[in-house]
Amino acid sequence: MTLTYDPQNIFARILRGEIPNKTVKETAHTLAFHDIRPLAPVHILVIPKGAYVTFGDFAAKASAEEIADFHRTCAAIIAEAGLDAGYRVISNAHDHGGQEVPHYHLHILGGAALGPMLAR
Ligand code: AMP
Repeated sequence: MTLTYDPQNIFARILRGEIPNKTVKETAHTLAFHDIRPLAPVHILVIPKGAYVTFGDFAAKASAEEIADFHRTCAAIIAEAGLDAGYRVISNAHDHGGQEVPHYHLHILGGAALGPMLAR
């Protein structure tokens, strides 16, 4: 397992403005945008602007200010997206987690009943 950050990953390119995105919210340390292949009526990705690979990498290395900004932004999105009936937050990490893009992100999913947590 490597935590070497690849600056050519697609979310790094979005952060540099090289690829467009449908922005939901942007703060000093955080960007949120609509997933390009939504798996639910609401499917928003939240990413830190810093170069972190996974949840564990971000939780271990980000500053308190980055961590607070990221989670407050998630809370604002959840409040504004009309998810009163419920939602799910997922973060995939590395191979076993099925991570496709090696820049830490949370998926915020909702807008319909999401079914079981994992397919069996
Ligand atoms: P993960 O498997 O957790 O790494 O999820 C990566 C997510 O990024 C997938 O749900 C993709 O649909 C999404 N994605 C990939 N490229 C883009 C893009 N250019 N804009 C928005 N979402 C994207």
